[in-house]
Amino acid sequence: MISEKAAVRYSAAAASDLGRKRSSNEDALGYSVEKGVFVVCDGMGGAAAGEIASALAVDELMRLLAGSRRAPAPQEAERAVGAANQAIFSRAQRNHKLSGMGTTMVLLLTCEQRAWFLNVGDSRGYRLRQERLEQITVDHSHVEEQVRAGRMSQAEAERSPLRNVITRALGTQSQVTPDVFELETEPGDLFLLSSDGLTRELSDPLIESILRLDLPLDHLCARLVSAANKAGGQDNITCLLVRAVQTVSSGNGVPRRAR
Ligand code: CA
Repeated sequence: MISEKAAVRYSAAAASDLGRKRSSNEDALGYSVEKGVFVVCDGMGGAAAGEIASALAVDELMRLLAGSRRAPAPQEAERAVGAANQAIFSRAQRNHKLSGMGTTMVLLLTCEQRAWFLNVGDSRGYRLRQERLEQITVDHSHVEEQVRAGRMSQAEAERSPLRNVITRALGTQSQVTPDVFELETEPGDLFLLSSDGLTRELSDPLIESILRLDLPLDHLCARLVSAANKAGGQDNITCLLVRAVQTVSSGNGVPRRAR
């Protein structure tokens, strides 16, 4: 008898849009389904510095994590985040026009039935499971800290003039520590990585209602972007969707798709 065991594989799609108010896109993204590496960054800094910081972070993370022969472990991802931080920081030190540039980052690693979110700043990682959307990452932002300390309500945080202030970024200090969230993956799970240009415009229930539509991932990305633009499009909008799909691997190790 052939032994069969449930396993998951992943598929992904992404979209990044200027929005309706900005003249350049300072968001950047990259992914490799094969290596299980997915990343969204949102740069900041004067002139072109934000674009440089986010692009540098994505390039460095993809080079270090998707360039190796096997899927990376979370410890390697933490080291890669440190290396990306150093790359941006030292570039800013060498060129005063880039001084103070930085970027937020949300990174998802997948490996069979496990997944890890790593984040720095206020780019977010969510999981839709059984039609319930949950924010997994915790923003490194001034307002989030106030809410957690009980000094501000969620509604006040959303209106606060300080809501743009982030408390952790890649590239602005010589060292940075990402938060790491380990997850057990179930077939059907849908992960969302996004910049704040999406989550500022759309409430979580609205994002959830879009993600629950029975559409291919690239169509879902397009729906998210157009909804954020309709809601104002004040900032660049980036979303990356990763779906866990059930496969059945037979005893000989050749995976095939579940019916
Ligand atoms: Ca942004």
